[in-house]
Amino acid sequence: YDAPRLRRLDAAHHIHPFSNATQVVAEGGGKLFAHADGIYIYDTDNKRYLDGMAGLWCVNVGYGREELVEAAARQMRELPYYSSFFGGTTPPTVELAAKLTELLGHGLNHVLFANSGSEANDTVVRLVRHFWNLEGKPKKKAFIARRHAYHGSTMAAASLGNWGTMHEQADLPLPGFHHVEAPYWYAEGGDKDPESFGIACAKAIEAKILELGADNVAAVIGEPVQGAGGVIVPPKSYWPEVERICRKHDVLLIADEVICGFGRTGAWFGFETLGFKPDIVSMAKGLSSGYQPISAVAVTDRIAKPLIDAGYWLHGFTYSGHPVAAAVALKNIEIMEREHLVQKVAKETGPYFAQRLKTLEKNPIVGEVRTLGLLGGIELVADKKTRKRFEPLGHAGTVCRERCLANGLIMRASFETMVLSPPLTITKAQIDELVTLAGRALDETAAELLK
Ligand code: PLP
Repeated sequence: YDAPRLRRLDAAHHIHPFSNATQVVAEGGGKLFAHADGIYIYDTDNKRYLDGMAGLWCVNVGYGREELVEAAARQMRELPYYSSFFGGTTPPTVELAAKLTELLGHGLNHVLFANSGSEANDTVVRLVRHFWNLEGKPKKKAFIARRHAYHGSTMAAASLGNWGTMHEQADLPLPGFHHVEAPYWYAEGGDKDPESFGIACAKAIEAKILELGADNVAAVIGEPVQGAGGVIVPPKSYWPEVERICRKHDVLLIADEVICGFGRTGAWFGFETLGFKPDIVSMAKGLSSGYQPISAVAVTDRIAKPLIDAGYWLHGFTYSGHPVAAAVALKNIEIMEREHLVQKVAKETGPYFAQRLKTLEKNPIVGEVRTLGLLGGIELVADKKTRKRFEPLGHAGTVCRERCLANGLIMRASFETMVLSPPLTITKAQIDELVTLAGRALDETAAELLK
């Protein structure tokens, strides 16, 4: 690659998503990554980085999987594209829908496809409103979500979320989207013990349902573990209580499994690990390990039946159920099953990751380490006793992210929390390497911030 030329073009013509555009331009272009293998990715100078984020929480089977390349090529040769509109479809699309219902269980027997997590969640919003209209309850329109949530970037998905300044930047949320506290015990639990804090946060959902009137509330949505919000692992008490409340008030429960799905928490889906049964599940990322853009929404018979009985529902995308993406997703799931990746996370690498990452709590600026499966969050604080944060907010994370990169580790900063989500193929020895690099970067960050 002619890296200097590409960086010049990047600065001149490319606006990066979720990036500091001023900085990209000032630095003469972004960072160019060129190739990857396993859990390592290389820049155009061939510097190696351990990818602690699996791309953006998605490359679950790791980089360099020839089988996925072949699955895509085979499908492109045979039938590169056909739509699922007007009653047609393609073999891999159907196989994938059936496979997903098998993995999900719990009566989640029907699947719709889209291309991204945002589109999946937009689909959910339209689907839920259509459902309640068909049920003769058109007033049930409101969605209840949580603070610190990230559900995507489209107008409806960003309205469901409540992350950073996304609302302020686009006059969101749209009408009908409400937010209550998240079960973020370390930052917001005060002197409550975690389990009673979990119940209190669930009760906040009930209070919002009662405030709006159950007749007006369509659904509650949540990521089993809030990812981009800072790997906020809820107390065990939380989700079963949320489910009980939703059932009591006939409010649908939606699990956004875009990050937690496909083995991340040590089960196929986060709702299994956290002990609840959703009516609707949105999926993306790990579904294809990021090798192709594809997302899906699964629903129970209760929701599918009126939809099917009604005939036409006017929703979908040109690439819904794209055959190449579906073929890759199917092969990706086959690899995960063959290599027992979910069981490995549950029994072997997840517990080891938890134990090793916890050792970083001895660093003077690490307030708390949170993990579940192969999700990790390292929260940075200026004062461990008071849990006071560094100022300005976000600066500590930016310094740490840069120190990580310099040390050959990709670890993302979500405000004050460093987040980790390595490929599920990571070995124990590679977890040791990750923790060593993270420890080094944290020491350097502490030295800089505490001086
Ligand atoms: N939902 C969750 C929980 C996510 O983390 C994300 C992306 O990070 C999305 C939805 C949006 O997915 P996409 O970026 O594919 O639109």
